[in-house]
Amino acid sequence: MESKHQTDNPNRRRAVSRAKKLLERLLDLLFPPKCPFCGRLMEHAGICAACRQELPWIEDTDSLREGADGLRCAGVLWYEGSAAEGLRRLKFQGASAAAEPMGALVAQCAARWFSGEFDTVTWVPVSRKRLRQRGYDQAELLARAACRHWETAPVRLLNKTQDNPAQSGLREAAARRANVLGVYEPAGEIAGKRVLLVDDICTTGATLSECARVLKDAGADSVVCAAVALTRQHGASEKVHK
Ligand SMILES: [Zn+2]
Repeated sequence: MESKHQTDNPNRRRAVSRAKKLLERLLDLLFPPKCPFCGRLMEHAGICAACRQELPWIEDTDSLREGADGLRCAGVLWYEGSAAEGLRRLKFQGASAAAEPMGALVAQCAARWFSGEFDTVTWVPVSRKRLRQRGYDQAELLARAACRHWETAPVRLLNKTQDNPAQSGLREAAARRANVLGVYEPAGEIAGKRVLLVDDICTTGATLSECARVLKDAGADSVVCAAVALTRQHGASEKVHK
C-alpha cells in the first residue's frame, strides 16, 4: 500500500501496486513467512494461532510503565518464554522478517496508550559497528513496521556513538544507567517534536531514559516509548503504572 503523495497517475499507481503484489508473492515462495515467535511456517505473515493463545501477553494496565523520571513506556508481551525467544531471533539470528508482525503489535500498543501524543516516530539505534555486523537495526525495523500502519515512516533522531557493553550483562539499575550515559547523540531536527521512541525490549528503562534525556535536551517537546516486550519488575527503581 503506497502513500497517496507518491503519484497521481492511476495507471502508474495500478502498475506499481501489481508489481508490489507480484514481488510479495515471489518473496513468499522464496522465503515463506514464519511465525515470529515459534518459527512455524505460515501461509500468510503474522502470528500463529497457538502463539496468539499462549504468548505471555501483558494484562491491561500493567502494559504501561512509568519510570522514576516520569517517562512512560508501553509494552505488549512479558519478556519470557516464546516472546523472549522470538526477540532473540530478531536480534541475533537474522530473523528480520519477524519485525513486521512484531511492529504491528507495537503500533496497536502505541495507539492504545499514546493516541494523539506523538507526531514523530524514532527508534533506539544500534552503533554503526553493530549495524555492519548484524546487517540491520532491529528497533529501526520495528519502528518502520509500526509506521506502515500509520502510512508514515520513522525518522532518525539519535545516533549511537559508542559501543558500550551489552545491557543484558548488567543487573544493577545504577550500573545500567552508567553504562548508557553519553553513548547516544541527537541527530536531525528534534526541536518541538513530540516523539514516540521504539525499542525491542524495556528492562529497567535505563536506555530509554537516556535516549529521552538526549531528545529533550535537543529540544523535543515530549517523549513516550513503546517496546515489544517489558521485563517483569523486581526492584523498586521504577514503579509500575496502575
Ligand atoms: Zn507461533
